Amino acid sequence: MKNDALIRDICESYCSFYKPGKDENMACMGLLVLQKLLELRNGVPDSGSRDHLNPETAERLFNTLCAACPFAASDCDYAEWKRGRSENVPDRAFVPCGGFIFIGSCIDHGTLDHRELDHLI
Ligand code: SF4
Repeated sequence: MKNDALIRDICESYCSFYKPGKDENMACMGLLVLQKLLELRNGVPDSGSRDHLNPETAERLFNTLCAACPFAASDCDYAEWKRGRSENVPDRAFVPCGGFIFIGSCIDHGTLDHRELDHLI
């Protein structure tokens, strides 16, 4: 079950792909991981500033988080762009989803590491 506060704070606030009312039974891997973290830690890690992700962090997340995401195959402009398959790339495709940004920011901020993340994917 999705956590309403996570959807409000992460998806609605930071995700350019989020569409209210879209199939509520599907969630991106970013949100699924954050739900697990919320349960394990009784809260989500501090993400610090979410202004800029380290490119190495983003690349690694694309190869782990996105690789396991149900939206990656055909429902995510960012994944399409990263795979180089989009011809008419919309501006929003250059930015990953809110969960990806939040998780990447936690890694860059030192409150989450790739090893723990890999166990949650
Ligand atoms: S950016 Fe990655 S984790 Fe987020 S919706 Fe796209 S494929 Fe899924």
